[in-house]
Amino acid sequence: MDNHSLVDYAKSLDCVHCGLCLNSCPTYRITGRESSSPRGRIHLMRSVAEGAIEPDDDFAEEMDFCLLCRNCESVCPSGVRYGAMMEHTRGALEERRQRPWTARLARSIGFGILRDRMALRVTARLARLAEGTGLARLVGAPALPRHAERVLLPTHMPAEGGELARVAMLEGCVMPELLGHVQRATAQVLQRAGCTVQISPMHVCCGSLHAHNGEVKAACELARATIEAYERLTDERGNPLPLIINSAGCGSHIKEFEHLFADDETMAVRARALSGRSFDLSQFLAREPFRSRLMQRLNPKASHQGPYAWDDPCHLCHGQGVRREPRELLQAAVGDGLVPLADPESCCGSAGIYSLLRPRDSQAVLQPRIEALRASGARTLVTSNPGCQMQWEAGIRTAQLDVSVSHLAEVLERASR
Ligand code: SF4
Ligand code: SF4
Repeated sequence: MDNHSLVDYAKSLDCVHCGLCLNSCPTYRITGRESSSPRGRIHLMRSVAEGAIEPDDDFAEEMDFCLLCRNCESVCPSGVRYGAMMEHTRGALEERRQRPWTARLARSIGFGILRDRMALRVTARLARLAEGTGLARLVGAPALPRHAERVLLPTHMPAEGGELARVAMLEGCVMPELLGHVQRATAQVLQRAGCTVQISPMHVCCGSLHAHNGEVKAACELARATIEAYERLTDERGNPLPLIINSAGCGSHIKEFEHLFADDETMAVRARALSGRSFDLSQFLAREPFRSRLMQRLNPKASHQGPYAWDDPCHLCHGQGVRREPRELLQAAVGDGLVPLADPESCCGSAGIYSLLRPRDSQAVLQPRIEALRASGARTLVTSNPGCQMQWEAGIRTAQLDVSVSHLAEVLERASR
């Protein structure tokens, strides 16, 4: 593979070097170095493609240092598609990287487990056993809920109070093992909003973590499997159901499946169709008639854990452009118990598996967010992405703040009981 193909050169030409993205970038804020900024990274990519520099270890390090939070995309006046460029370069770098066999083995086991339900369940069980020995704490693994919490959702959950629509819900790979209570809350809220909820028994993982980390072949296979699984969930007229997603990272990835099939027009069409009927949970619940049905059930007085603060997951605000809907729903659920959080669109440092791969950088990105949370006076931090939820929980524990973390679905579920 030549150096030019390491980079999506055409996209890199959209950057006009204005520098408006610099201060929005968490890695630039940490180092103050141009090469750790979006503009700097694009310049590096372009230089590699033009043969001015070699794609050496320093180049790879700056590509790895990026969180892929896409905050730079939100502020860029030229519409630079930074996320797609970075995924392209990471995928191409991964193909030529000479990793030690141990690292290759760890990656292949880790990314392999994500796509197999049985492997996920066995791993969760082993991790839970390891917790008793203190080993899990030693390697920094997240705490796992007990077995009774880690049950899969039924494949069919009827609407409450008369059916307004049928929907499919993404159950996902790690969510049932780590955040089963969020999955149950999501299904319950949808049911209370008048939706019959269906789960695909054949689907496991959408491949978003694979795509963000250069595992392009696996990402394409998982995208294909996702498209096929949700084409099979149809209404009585045979039309595929809308797909509701409560993980911002997965939602953003599924909505952009098309670019994984640049050389396969038939699959690209099917990918576009799935993207067109995929919704973040908040986006879907903000639509009529579901909004009105849910609003009838919301009782702000039922929430006792305020004040609440909302944290925008990067892949919801920057990746999907969804900002208004979760705030409106949260406001309706908690009334005047909502307080502002400074810099809510800034990354918390979770970024998929970034917090595992680069714990020190991840903590440096999280620190200012923890201080913002402390200053807000909130007692519950609300977000809607599993990685963000666990990152905040760990950071809050370390900072010894008296704050709990909830997914938006959990707050809506409590307020609509
Ligand atoms: S994606 Fe995030 S970390 Fe990467 S360059 Fe853009 S703003 Fe910086
Ligand atoms: S804001 Fe956009 S155009 Fe300006 S330097 Fe950053 S990426 Fe380039």
